[in-house]
Amino acid sequence: MAQVKLTDTTLRDAHQSLIATRMRTRDMLPIAERMDEVGFFSLEVWGGATFDSSIRYLNEDPWERLRSLKKAIRKTPLQMLLRGQNLVGYRHYSDDVVVKFVEHAAETGIDIFRIFDAVNDIRNMEVSIKTAKRVGAHVQGTVCYTISPVHPIPLYVKMAKQLEGMGCDSLCIKDMAGLISPKNAHDLVKALKKEISIPVDLHSHCTSGMAPMSYLYACEAGVDILDTAFSPFAWGTSQPPTETTVAALKGTPYDTGLDLFLLTEIKKYFEDLKEKYRGILDPISERIDTNVLKYQIPGGMLSNLVSQLKEQNALDKYNDVLAEMPRVREELGYPPLVTPTSQIVGTQAVLNVLMGERYKVVPKEVKDYVKGLYGRTPAPISKEIITKILGSEQPITCRPADLLPPELDKATKEAYALGIVKKPEDILTYALYPAIAPKFLRGEAKEEALEPPKQNNNKSAALPTEFKVEVDGDVFEVKILSAGGGMAVKEMNERPKAVDGSITASMQGMVLKVKVKKGDSVAKGDVVMVLEAMKMENNIHAPHAGTVKEILVKEGSTVSAGDALLIIG
Ligand code: MN
Repeated sequence: MAQVKLTDTTLRDAHQSLIATRMRTRDMLPIAERMDEVGFFSLEVWGGATFDSSIRYLNEDPWERLRSLKKAIRKTPLQMLLRGQNLVGYRHYSDDVVVKFVEHAAETGIDIFRIFDAVNDIRNMEVSIKTAKRVGAHVQGTVCYTISPVHPIPLYVKMAKQLEGMGCDSLCIKDMAGLISPKNAHDLVKALKKEISIPVDLHSHCTSGMAPMSYLYACEAGVDILDTAFSPFAWGTSQPPTETTVAALKGTPYDTGLDLFLLTEIKKYFEDLKEKYRGILDPISERIDTNVLKYQIPGGMLSNLVSQLKEQNALDKYNDVLAEMPRVREELGYPPLVTPTSQIVGTQAVLNVLMGERYKVVPKEVKDYVKGLYGRTPAPISKEIITKILGSEQPITCRPADLLPPELDKATKEAYALGIVKKPEDILTYALYPAIAPKFLRGEAKEEALEPPKQNNNKSAALPTEFKVEVDGDVFEVKILSAGGGMAVKEMNERPKAVDGSITASMQGMVLKVKVKKGDSVAKGDVVMVLEAMKMENNIHAPHAGTVKEILVKEGSTVSAGDALLIIG
């Protein structure tokens, strides 16, 4: 039996899980060289939500982070998490953007690409896998682990064989919600080891409390690599602890051979660092949440919802939300709950409950998902649900990115026209995040304060409903003023006053697109603006026909629920 290797996730998944992906590069660099000495199989340091978080909250260039980590870490392969055709974003990008991104990530320092697709549709992984292989990187093909009537072990084995056939160098079982039991970990690893010859990595989270036991059972079944994080950033919704795993396996056939003294020294650094982030460390993320065992949904999300519902005196909605999540998931064809499907299912479930009517409000992403634009769903979606969400429109059956025209040229032109390109990679940053990148690239973004001041809520106590939803380490702020969706009229001193004919925002969010200009005539139902809320795009429709009298917001402006957006007379 071979030694077991470890991938340390402290610099990516662990802080994404526990402190909403807010660890700064300047807090990583002082310890990077010591981490390089340990002898990890790899260090996961990039991808997932780190790219978005860097430019959105930290005023940090993600490419610079990678470059400086690469300078400090010379021996250990650097690993990133790549969401297949979604790269490090929340939608599918065109193939030319995918190719360029993977090439540039490899050039900048990524040695191992862990590539997954939220619905396990291999067609969404093809281009990134091929590109990463072509540039000589190690490709870790990934199966997203979930539990459902349509996810038996042979399905994962079949997918793993396909990934091996595509040239993947290793295989990852991505158990993002911490659902895998010791027995299932054992049986799955055993089945995989029988059928494929590339190394198998088990990536789990402690959310349900089972992960350390599952890791041991996976060892017994012949797992090659385990994902862990330094203990101060382990447990809870994060990975099992590195030092504990090393100590536990010592003297067994799976002994990692890693130096516990060196690990303890590094641990001390992270222990001190954790204090710095204490203010944003959500105690809920640090807990074991056995709800995940019953409802099979990420624990932090529900626990957070509970406290928010309590604040709103709406705890009676808790059971409704509990019941709604699995129901939506089943209706949407049992997607594994991982970015972005976790947001898709989670947001729709919350909207179904808060709006008082199921699928009354459906964000663009949910529509796109049902349309097949995120790939083939694990189980087919019923005709009834498709009609409810899409009307007469028909879902697609081809590879979603086949419908996307090349985007890179257009993004390049736009970025230059905006005057935000200082170095070529800025174009990629813009192509990935056209809404938030310009502010960052112009140098107008500010680093978020570490302990954000508590917001005073002066609005009426009964409504609005205002809460945070956490999914897979990402926190979404949700504010809903009116169950009517779109026509809430509320006076606020500092905000544009809603007057006759004005259309107001029903949620807090950012204006992504203004699709009309003053003087345009619109028909009832026309999309006049696109609002980004909960990382989802929500179309704002004209409630009646008329002429655009006034546009009160700009693309990129942040709006609160009830703010007037434009006036149609
Ligand atoms: Mn994870």
